Amino acid sequence: MQRWLVDICADLIIESCVGIVTKSLIVVVSGPGGVGKSTIVEELVKRDERLWLSRSWTTREMRQGEAADAYKFVTREQFQQHIDADGFLEWTEFIGNLYGTPNPEPPTGRDIVLEIEVDGAQQVKQQHPEALLLFVLPPSREEQKARLHGRGDADNKVEQRLKKAEEEEPVGKALADYVLINDDLAQTVNDMLGLIAKERAKRA
Ligand code: 5GP
Repeated sequence: MQRWLVDICADLIIESCVGIVTKSLIVVVSGPGGVGKSTIVEELVKRDERLWLSRSWTTREMRQGEAADAYKFVTREQFQQHIDADGFLEWTEFIGNLYGTPNPEPPTGRDIVLEIEVDGAQQVKQQHPEALLLFVLPPSREEQKARLHGRGDADNKVEQRLKKAEEEEPVGKALADYVLINDDLAQTVNDMLGLIAKERAKRA
């Protein structure tokens, strides 16, 4: 086959592959710390096998009792190198630590779930306005405070996170496609699965 013909074929294959990849629905679960996002996304991927959970990178230290694969725990240098290599879909600094979503590479046919804070959610929405943004709120500040303490955050960290939550709330609400109050985990997960199904049906 002529070289130019091989090149055109290769371009067509790449374009159709990109088409498949970009057809993945991106579900962004965002909300302030202590609202239960990690538990929610764990349940979502357990209940819906089409969902693929992206694993974030962070420069934060691992918490006591935290799963080793909760994040890819890296140094600032490693994180910076990945920024320089254009390796993140989005990244941000959150209360002194860096967090980022590596460019997602889901298996074919899977939809992507991101569990990220508001600044990152904003970046994803800018690049992918079709992404489904679900913003989760705690039933009350007291409940949120209790959850933050419950996972072992020190008092000063809890205060920082509560302050940050107040800043995040109005931005997240304005950005979100849907706002959910996580009063009851099972109900929140069911509601989200329903919204995801509705979004898929719209795109089918
Ligand atoms: P934590 O330190 O409590 O695990 O996470 C702090 C905040 O960073 C949480 O709101 C969490 O959802 C968010 N987060 C986790 N991974 C990412 C990420 O990849 N990108 C962004 N922007 N935020 C993230």
